[in-house]
Amino acid sequence: MFDIASRDIKYISGIGPNKADVLNKELKIYSVNDLIYYFPYKYVDRSRIYYVHEIDGNMPYIQLRGKILSFETIGEGRQRRLIAHFSDGTGVVDLVWFQGIKFITGRYKASEEYIVFGKPTLFGGRFNIAHPDLDKPDELRLTSKGLQPYYNTTEKMKRSFLSSPNVAKLMAVVLQQIVELLPETLPHWLIAEHHLMSRNDAIHNIHFPTSADALRRAQYRLKFEELFYIQLGILRYAKDRQRRYRGFVFEKVADIFNTFYSQNLPFALTGAQKRVLKEIRNDVGNGRQMNRLLQGDVGSGKTLVALMSMLLALDNGYQACLMAPTEILANQHFETISSLLHGMNLRVELLTGSITKKRREPILKGLLSGEVHILIGTHAVIEESVQFNSLGLVVIDEQHRFGVAQRARLWNKNIYPPHVLVMTATPIPRTLAMTLYGDLEVSIIDELPPGRKPISTMHQFDNRRESLYASVRKQLNEGRQVYIVYPLIKESEKIDLKNLEEGYMHICAEFPEYQVCKVHGKMKAIEKEEQMQLFVSGKAKIMVATTVIEVGVNVPNASVMIIENAERFGLSQLHQLRGRVGRGADQSYCILVTNYKLAEDTRKRLEIMVRTNDGFEIAEADLKLRGPGDLEGTQQSGVAFDLKIADIARDGQLLQYVRDIAQKIVDADPDNSLPQNDILWQQLRSLRKSNVNWASIS
Ligand code: ADP
Ligand code: MG
Repeated sequence: MFDIASRDIKYISGIGPNKADVLNKELKIYSVNDLIYYFPYKYVDRSRIYYVHEIDGNMPYIQLRGKILSFETIGEGRQRRLIAHFSDGTGVVDLVWFQGIKFITGRYKASEEYIVFGKPTLFGGRFNIAHPDLDKPDELRLTSKGLQPYYNTTEKMKRSFLSSPNVAKLMAVVLQQIVELLPETLPHWLIAEHHLMSRNDAIHNIHFPTSADALRRAQYRLKFEELFYIQLGILRYAKDRQRRYRGFVFEKVADIFNTFYSQNLPFALTGAQKRVLKEIRNDVGNGRQMNRLLQGDVGSGKTLVALMSMLLALDNGYQACLMAPTEILANQHFETISSLLHGMNLRVELLTGSITKKRREPILKGLLSGEVHILIGTHAVIEESVQFNSLGLVVIDEQHRFGVAQRARLWNKNIYPPHVLVMTATPIPRTLAMTLYGDLEVSIIDELPPGRKPISTMHQFDNRRESLYASVRKQLNEGRQVYIVYPLIKESEKIDLKNLEEGYMHICAEFPEYQVCKVHGKMKAIEKEEQMQLFVSGKAKIMVATTVIEVGVNVPNASVMIIENAERFGLSQLHQLRGRVGRGADQSYCILVTNYKLAEDTRKRLEIMVRTNDGFEIAEADLKLRGPGDLEGTQQSGVAFDLKIADIARDGQLLQYVRDIAQKIVDADPDNSLPQNDILWQQLRSLRKSNVNWASIS
């Protein structure tokens, strides 16, 4: 059978090589299938025609029916614009074009009847509509019930006659050429059971809805399918792995663990720490490979849990490895863990990018011979050259950055895959975790070590420095330390660094009696380390820094976190930064400093920060405000987040629903052998093939 879906769009009549080229480059659309999966981002009801005299300033897109009275060009150079005075007999509006003036005057004529479509705005006492769509009434028949699709387009597309209405026309032409029904991608029993629209109807209706209800059903079917296959992929993968790999069995708790517990542990474990350790012990003892996500707010004591899990590995004759996202953090873990293990005769080594070759060699040797018990490091530890004698447990700290696919790369460090514990301090909304970490079991530390007082958070405008510095001085005089954080992003790096330097000078001048240190990502590692050390040792009382301190840095004596230009930080970042204080027993403060003028979104973010310390609440809010695509790390997460239609924030319920369905299918058909599911595994294979991220683990 001739399959039109796989055809190159340049051979489709109505597209041609030029437009095909633009679609290739701008949207990565190559085949007819790619094109029909380019969905509208909104629909506008064009069933109603308004009168000019009805227009008010708050209307969304509307349409009018009338005639152009006359054209007029006004202004010079970049100010030049074309105005068409348009009337339907009840009043006059001005249609305005800033570009393509020649094209417009050549195409549209005075005294002809048009349907005008656009967004009216009030300007100079008169309504005008900028760059409206104009159609002759008899040509406007794209949808019978008036729901008009709107497609995202780029500047280049618009210049190549691929504006949204053009894309709609093209889509209509292409869909007309598909005479066969589009083949199903879900099994019939599943479609029947969940009352889904057929794929064929869904694709036609998503572009050209025959009714609002048909559109809703089309959207539901397509979202269902999209989320369902992601979940099916994850759960299938987890099941396969579970069946394929035996895990090392850490059967005993012996000397190392017990010595640490009775002699070195400086405090009692919290209830939550104990519970999580039990969960981990159970995992590593049952013969299956552990894959566990440990969530716990900043300061909840995850490091200790990680360490004690590593000691279990050691007790059973295995090595353990802890991986941190940054050098600073790896260093700090190394220090903390080395000192916690003091006197225990264990060899702990640090491996990061800046460890010289000379120092590397003995470490690598020791890993291979088994003399190194615990390796702590950055991504450097997963390099080819790093070979262990018997790696039993890998702990991955503080990241969203390590998705399903990256974790899979750890497998080839061993004949058996090691047990894996992923720790994250930024609680991940449940829906996102299901996708990003959908193959992991989850443990949660929901209790802070005793004696911590909740951090008090305030928002202050940057014109009130004096009172701000007065409170800072008060804390300093009581012997506390203070962080001052500045934003630093690539796009504005120079300006940001300048701000930081100015801030630093300013603070030095303001607090001459205290030593101030400075850390930013552009410094050399050694210099950074020196400055950090000044603060950690308590010599420097104030640290001026960029977000390099965000992850994990632990100075319990620090009680004030000032975040400059707080409007430029995302919620989860603000929460992470705030977690740097409140680690000692004293009352801590977080002060969010912003400009006076704030966008609505920003105001909401700050309000949430002031209102709550609950990381989960913040994570949920963050997901809602920003959408998953922008959440830190999701791009590199290893799961495709360029969802075409579903929205992880808004479609959480559906996600849970389809996950349950997928789980049932995987459980009932462990060998992919039931004939009624053929289509599922076929589709999954083809999706994995076309998705680079998935390809690396299947
Ligand atoms: P996380 O990694 O979860 O952000 P850490 O493991 O860095 O938190 O712990 C934060 C601080 O709390 C550290 O100084 C740690 O020594 C301390 N801590 C951890 N567990 C306990 C406990 N059970 N009792 C008291 N202090 C603890
Ligand atoms: Mg930590």
